[in-house]
Amino acid sequence: MFKKNVSAEPQKPVAPQKAADVAKPVETKKEVKPVADKITVGYTHLSGCTGCTVALADNYAGLLTLLDRYVDLKYMPTLADARHIQKVDVSFVEGSVCINDKLAVEEIKETREKSAVVVALGGCACYGNITRFSRGGQQNQPAQEAYLPIGDLIKVDVYIPGCAPSPQLIRNVAVAAYLLLKGSPEQKALATAYLKPLMMAADKGTSACFCDLMTNVINQGLCMGCGSCASACPVRAITHEYGKPQGERDLCIKCGACYNQCPRSWFSFDVVENYEAINETIMAALQ
Ligand code: SF4
Ligand code: SF4
Repeated sequence: MFKKNVSAEPQKPVAPQKAADVAKPVETKKEVKPVADKITVGYTHLSGCTGCTVALADNYAGLLTLLDRYVDLKYMPTLADARHIQKVDVSFVEGSVCINDKLAVEEIKETREKSAVVVALGGCACYGNITRFSRGGQQNQPAQEAYLPIGDLIKVDVYIPGCAPSPQLIRNVAVAAYLLLKGSPEQKALATAYLKPLMMAADKGTSACFCDLMTNVINQGLCMGCGSCASACPVRAITHEYGKPQGERDLCIKCGACYNQCPRSWFSFDVVENYEAINETIMAALQ
């Protein structure tokens, strides 16, 4: 017996491949996060200088990451087409409310009604800031002469103080809000630790006075003599002596400006103790 020479058998003709089979490119599927995984966010823009919007935009690629992965921006005068207020998880509010402007008063009330969480973004929304000094007669809107921080009209859940707040602080609050609503139990705990002092600042709101500054900052040895409190006081009730603020309590109108503007008023040991873990969690989210 000898082996049959297989190669000697006539070969069957091979059917030509269809062009579609040959040229088919390898498909690489990009993982797209469903919009349902994002939190819905709105941005109400009232009376201010637009510096907070600029600070938000100063996150550059970080802002794109936020919009791509975590935030479904439902309305915003500058960045989104839709401008009417919609039902959202979180609303950021920039600017104070001009009480001569009926539409602005309605706008802030509607924002509260349609938002699970309201964040006062920046000094004007938190405590009035420069708009408190307005006495009317501005070139483009001369009839508008009285402004109130949003906390005087609605309940506010989170304060982001500063004029303007740092881009990183705005970004971190947005990521923390996402982790709080959509994260794992551990992420929720870290986000809560991070947001708690900003929630407490909102809770004190515009009812804080120089006594709060004295009790919670100066007497705790936290004051660094920066002078922000004195600069923010609309009635000049604070002076600086020997590098420390001194309050004239008879002049104080309890507006909360000094307390909100003080960078140490929302100092928190919870944040300090968990700083590394909070920072790593936020940074990992932005990678
Ligand atoms: S009036 Fe001046 S001292 Fe009194 S709460 Fe306002 S900013 Fe502070
Ligand atoms: S703003 Fe706060 S840290 Fe700065 S001087 Fe006033 S109390 Fe001190």
